[in-house]
Amino acid sequence: MTIHAQACAVPSTSSPDGVLRQRGQREVFCGLTGIVWLHRKIQDAFFLVVGSRTCAHLIQSAAGVMIFAEPRFATAIMEERDLAGLVDANDELDRIVAQLLARRPDIKLLFLVGSCPSEVIKLDLSRAALRLSQRFAPGVRVLNYSGSGIETTFTQGEDACLASLVPVLPVADRASGPSLLVVGALADVVEDQFRRIFVSLGIDQVAFLPPRRSSELPAIGLETRVLLAQPFLGDTARALEERGCRRIAAPFPLGGEGTALWLAAAADAFGVSRAHVDRTLAPLQARAERALARYRAQLAGRRVFLFPDSQIEIPLARFLAREIGMELVEVGTPYLHREHLASELKLLPQGVLLSEGQDVERQLDRCRAARPDLVVCGLGLANPLEAEGLTTKWSIELIFTPIQGFEQAGDLAELFARPLLRQTRLAV
Ligand code: SF4
Repeated sequence: MTIHAQACAVPSTSSPDGVLRQRGQREVFCGLTGIVWLHRKIQDAFFLVVGSRTCAHLIQSAAGVMIFAEPRFATAIMEERDLAGLVDANDELDRIVAQLLARRPDIKLLFLVGSCPSEVIKLDLSRAALRLSQRFAPGVRVLNYSGSGIETTFTQGEDACLASLVPVLPVADRASGPSLLVVGALADVVEDQFRRIFVSLGIDQVAFLPPRRSSELPAIGLETRVLLAQPFLGDTARALEERGCRRIAAPFPLGGEGTALWLAAAADAFGVSRAHVDRTLAPLQARAERALARYRAQLAGRRVFLFPDSQIEIPLARFLAREIGMELVEVGTPYLHREHLASELKLLPQGVLLSEGQDVERQLDRCRAARPDLVVCGLGLANPLEAEGLTTKWSIELIFTPIQGFEQAGDLAELFARPLLRQTRLAV
C-alpha cells in the first residue's frame, strides 16, 4: 500500500553536506511494488507474497490489467487464525507452495516475499525458503526477501530481490578472464542495445542481473566488474562486493550524456582506448542530442520540483538540468546513497536544494510557495496538486517505461514535455 507513516516528530535538518534531511509523514510505495516489473523480467520466476489482503490489493492495483493474464505473482493471504497462532503458518505455506508448483510446472524460481504482517508475526521466511528448496530441488529453487513497508520503499524491493539472488550465483572460472556484470532490471530492448554497444566497445563477456531466465544466472568472482544500471541497489552491490566483485563508479545511463559517461566508465575499467570509445559512442550520443533538441526548446528554463519516490530523482534531475536546460527547484529522494551517487552529485548544478526522506506537509508547503512549472510526484499527490493549478508528472511511469540508453533519451524527455503540452492545449 501507499504508506502514510507518521514517524516521531523530528524536525527537518540540514546535514553538513547541505542536504535537507526530512523525517515525518511519507507518501511512498512499499517494496512489494517491485514485483510488477521483476516478474516480467525473470520469465520463469514466481513471486508469492506472504501477506494480508491489503498486500494483495496493492499488487492488484499496481499491476492493473496484468492480473488477468495468468500472472506470475500472487499473495498467500494470512488469515486471522494464522495471525493468532491457531494454525502453523509454515504448514499452510508449504501446502500453498506445493499446490502452486503442481499447477504451474513452468516455475523454476520461487520468491517468498515478506510483508509487514509476516514480519510482525516473525514468520521466518528464510527457513521456509531453505526447507522448500530442499523439497523441490533440483526442479525449483526457492528464495526469499522482504518487500514490506516497514523495511523497504518502492524500488528497494528490487534491491532486496536481487540481493537474495547473489548468494546463489555460480562462481566464475578465473581462467575465463575479466567480465562485466550490469546490475538492475532493464527492459529487454534496452538490455539488447547495451549488449551490442558493449560488444562494439570490445567488452564481450557481459551479463545482466537479473537474467531473463533463472537458468541463466551469471557467474561472478574476483574478475567481475559491476556496473550499476540503477541507483537504488545498495544491498545488492554490497553482496556482490562481498563475493569479490568490484564496482565501477559512474553516473547512471539516463540521457545522451549520462549514457555516454556510464559506458565510458565501463570501457575505462576494461582498458579500452579513449579514441575507440569516442569513435563508438560519438555518433550514438549525437543522435540522442538531436532527439533531445526539440524537447529542450519546450522545456528549457522551466522550473521542476521532484518529490521523493524511487531514488532515481538525482540522475533524472541531472539529466533535466544539463541536457534539457530545466531549472531545479528541489530534488527529493527517499534515500541518498552518497557513494553510489557521487558521480551524479558532481554533475548537478551548484547550490541545488537536495532533500532526503520526507515530511510531506512541509514539502508540499515548499512546493506551493515555489509554484514550479512541473511537479514530479506519486499518484497520491498528483491530482490534488493539479486541482491547485500545478502541473504534475507521475513519477511511477519513470520506473515502468524504458528510459535508459541513447535510443530512449528522447522518450525520457517527452515524458516531461507531455504534461506541459497538455496543459497548454487545455488552456487554449
Ligand atoms: S507489505 Fe506492508 S505496506 Fe506493503 S501492502 Fe503489505 S501491509 Fe501494506
